[in-house]
Amino acid sequence: MSKLPSDQNAAAALRHVAFVGAGPGDPDLLTRKAYGALLAADVVIYDRLVSGPILDLCRAEAAMISVGKEGFGPSKPQADINALLVEHGQSGLRVVRLKGGDPTVFGRLDEEIEALDAAGIGWEVVPGITAASASVAAIGQSLTKRGRNQAVRFMTAHDMQGFAEHDWHALAREGEVAAVYMGKRAARFVQGRMLMHGAAPATPVTVIENASRPDQRIISSSIVRLEADLAKAGLSGPALMFLGLAPRAAQMELQEGIAL
Ligand code: SAH
Repeated sequence: MSKLPSDQNAAAALRHVAFVGAGPGDPDLLTRKAYGALLAADVVIYDRLVSGPILDLCRAEAAMISVGKEGFGPSKPQADINALLVEHGQSGLRVVRLKGGDPTVFGRLDEEIEALDAAGIGWEVVPGITAASASVAAIGQSLTKRGRNQAVRFMTAHDMQGFAEHDWHALAREGEVAAVYMGKRAARFVQGRMLMHGAAPATPVTVIENASRPDQRIISSSIVRLEADLAKAGLSGPALMFLGLAPRAAQMELQEGIAL
């Protein structure tokens, strides 16, 4: 392969945006590649979900632009974010589009890539640890387990129209495991759908708030108690809900017949 002359090389390299996964919040869960991209960035366009300690790693001279996107909170319209990416992507500066967790999981990554493609701007994706991985680590369980579940769903309880429909019948089967993103406000909906489709009322549900962060909380619940337990917990941070998984300690007690 012939090399481009260095000035062309530089020009080509400069029309570029790196989509970087910030992971769930703990800076030690950044990949080395993500860390390197943050240290080098001139412009960082980030979502609200990205934790403060991670933003603090960026250079003091870097332009930090919040686009405030998280679940259904206030945010810039996607078209504005796309326009911002294109504007900075062609500036010749090192641009990082920093997203919570992994950019490919409920991250609207494709829309942003399409905008860059349309403008002839290069891009790369630096994967990150998704909230489901950090949350399952917090409760000492596996996402999949031989003899229990050979598949796991990453689902959202919301879509653009409101609550999202799923194959509730399949989800209600014993042993199924699903990680529900953006599920805080959908507890009653999920509870209703699961019961309606035959889930055992005692099916474990675990909610992990602020996974991997100093204020991490674990709420061990069940389908039938879910709404009441969440109302009592009063969650304020990002929270992931596992259907079909209990924290390992709670599961051991259940198996030993000790009432929780
Ligand atoms: N791309 C992100 C998910 C974006 S959707 C990822 O891969 O993790 C936003 C949802 O992710 C939140 O509503 C919450 O359900 C979940 N989430 C993100 N960070 C979290 C954390 N530290 N603890 C618990 N849930 C988290």
